[in-house]
Amino acid sequence: MYSGYQRKRTTWLDVLLVSTIILLTVCIVFFVISNGDSKFQSTTAFANDLEDYSSSIEQSNSQFSDIMLITEKSNSDLIPFYLVYPQTSFELVNQEITTYIEHSKETYLNEIRLKRDEGIDVNSELRISTEIYEYKEQYYSIVLTKKVSFDRAKYDTTIQTYFFDKQTGELLTLRHLLNEEVSNLEVFAKYIRNQLLKSYQNYLIEDTAIAITEPKWRYFNRFAIIDNTLVIYYDKNEVATVKAGMPTVKVPLSFLNPALAKSFQTTEKSNNTIIPVKSASNKRVALTFDDGPHPKVTKQILKILEKYDAKATFFMVGYRAEDYPSLVREVKEQGHEIGNHTWNHPKLTDIISKNVLWQFNATNNAIENAIGEPATVFRPPYGATNKRVNNLLSENTPIVLWSLDTLDWKHRNSDKLLPVVKKNMHNNAIILMHDIHQSTADGLDSVLAYLQEEGYEFVTVSEVLPYRN
Ligand code: ZN
Repeated sequence: MYSGYQRKRTTWLDVLLVSTIILLTVCIVFFVISNGDSKFQSTTAFANDLEDYSSSIEQSNSQFSDIMLITEKSNSDLIPFYLVYPQTSFELVNQEITTYIEHSKETYLNEIRLKRDEGIDVNSELRISTEIYEYKEQYYSIVLTKKVSFDRAKYDTTIQTYFFDKQTGELLTLRHLLNEEVSNLEVFAKYIRNQLLKSYQNYLIEDTAIAITEPKWRYFNRFAIIDNTLVIYYDKNEVATVKAGMPTVKVPLSFLNPALAKSFQTTEKSNNTIIPVKSASNKRVALTFDDGPHPKVTKQILKILEKYDAKATFFMVGYRAEDYPSLVREVKEQGHEIGNHTWNHPKLTDIISKNVLWQFNATNNAIENAIGEPATVFRPPYGATNKRVNNLLSENTPIVLWSLDTLDWKHRNSDKLLPVVKKNMHNNAIILMHDIHQSTADGLDSVLAYLQEEGYEFVTVSEVLPYRN
């Protein structure tokens, strides 16, 4: 009996103990939760004014039926922002955009906090605007421009872009556009660098401009396709000083056609390409012939070039092009490039700008009369040029000098052509010769035989330019 009573009592105690533990646990859990809750409520109630950045959101149509625009406006005067960003029918694209928007708000807010903590007067603003472009009814480019200011005097402007397939929602990069070909990227990067150096020369932050035009895919991720043109964006003060504004480099897609993956190729045609169509060899040479055309010598040279299946460039003087239009046509029809070498060979640095332009335009007219299009490259007589002449002429036509002078105009000796070439030859050379000297035509065969033996591919000047600095 005794032991039975004891057992019963123990059982009752056990029940009590377990119940107490359960009750206590519940109480603790409840306390923790309610405490957390009240803590949360109290921070909201006594919120630092900077914590509260609620915003109002409106939706509107964009110019495209499958993209909506979100307008998000801050409700706080202390943290003003006004953001317009797109909402597509693709979750992944929207996620990327939302992440960027949220991150932008966060950094903005943090910056304001920091400045306040330092006792700096803040009069801030954050604005994001959206541009949308369609390409081939297949792709969308979205360009977000972000302007941030903390004193309303100085604005930081940065660009973010998205490029995606409007059927699949796949986000695409330059790597997709250029067919994942590193050799394409290399030529592309060099082209962008040269354009930056040329367009922003006075404002360039050269170290950065050089560094971020190295051939790395990730350096070319901010772009849009607008009207058959690839636009590469840079932030304000990134590659050029503030005075240059927002630097962009625009590349007509037709220039890139040979390098583009099929679905991105444009139907627009161009004689110009920054990507050599045939780059089978990595040893190239551009033969150039100046001062012609000459009814006898030019014809002989054409024949030799044909024998080696070599393409070259002929820098013609205008009055001769006008005299021999059918010869100009013949040069063109054999696949050679035609350059402008002024009307009658003056030293351009010695004549007034008006006449420089006349020399250039009159020659282009003569060439156009013969072949239906102007010259694609220009070479000043004697290689004499300066900033003034360059600015006058380099707008649409590259100015091309040479890297190897055969001195054929001086020695007029067919035996001396090859030794000079041999001695000074280098890859991607632009070789200067003249198709008005019989000695040049006579010495040319041995030069071509030698270069072919050395593995050089004979290309036009425009084809070699992308490989030169
Ligand atoms: Zn000349």
